[in-house]
Amino acid sequence: SAPLSIVRGAGEAAEKGILMRTGESFQGYRLVRQIAFDKTGTLTEGHPRVHEIEAVEGTSTDDVLSLAAAAEGSSEHPLAQAVVKAAFDAGLTPSEAESFDASPGKGVSAHIDGAEVLVGSPRFVAGSGIDLALLEERLNALEDKGRTVIAVARDAKLLGLLALGDAPRADAAETIRRLRDAGVRTVLITGDNRRTAERVAEELGLDDVHAEILPGEKADLIRALQQRGRTAMVGDGINDAPALMQADVGIAMGSGTDIAIDAADIIILNNRLANVVEAREISRRGYAKML
Ligand code: ADP
Ligand code: MG
Repeated sequence: SAPLSIVRGAGEAAEKGILMRTGESFQGYRLVRQIAFDKTGTLTEGHPRVHEIEAVEGTSTDDVLSLAAAAEGSSEHPLAQAVVKAAFDAGLTPSEAESFDASPGKGVSAHIDGAEVLVGSPRFVAGSGIDLALLEERLNALEDKGRTVIAVARDAKLLGLLALGDAPRADAAETIRRLRDAGVRTVLITGDNRRTAERVAEELGLDDVHAEILPGEKADLIRALQQRGRTAMVGDGINDAPALMQADVGIAMGSGTDIAIDAADIIILNNRLANVVEAREISRRGYAKML
């Protein structure tokens, strides 16, 4: 049976909205030297909104938004949902896509009104042979501001950009500061572009950033981070599940996908990011009592 102090700790944690799956991981958490955080939906609210729209000459911003929404109509990605909502709010009526294909961590391609449409990260769109030069300066400025920018192309030509923003959770900066004060190294892991990721990491005070990480690469990155010592991972998405399992302690946000929650050792039921620190404090106190 579990030592009484651990059982007590679990009760205290539960009162705060922290669910511990196993006593083992809870005990192990006190030894963690480093915590990796997913960005979208973990450090941020996970409800992105379209803030700016840029169009190349001869195209309207409404056309850019409408075409992007047509392509994103079948995608469940939070960015896609934000694009569809922005088009709806603008009173636009996007066409129905004739075909649709999603590339996880990259974007979508679709056939719309007989044209081939690509919507996704600038890296993905440029990698498909589309020249972004016409809007390159705007793109860089928006990313430096911390926006997630997606490019919209039709028949191999750039049409425009959509700049999305997702607010950090209210307690994100404080949580990172408390971990730092406790000597825990904090790392940001995201599929988002480098400029945006660096801006967010700087704003919130994380020690290290790994950007443009594809969904399949997250677990490998955790394995590499573990060379430095025991590592926890905090995430919410389907993509985060393998990394949560690879980490010494996997922590899922309660608002996360079922797959992330199933893969985690600790679940933050109320989405209070500060519980990442508080679970650690409870874990340390529980251990002290046992001695
Ligand atoms: P994160 O790690 O931030 O949750 P993802 O791995 O899901 O992000 O996606 C990484 C990047 O790929 C996004 O920032 C975006 O540029 C692009 N992307 C992925 N899916 C889509 C989509 N449906 N529409 C547009 N862009 C997308
Ligand atoms: Mg996420």
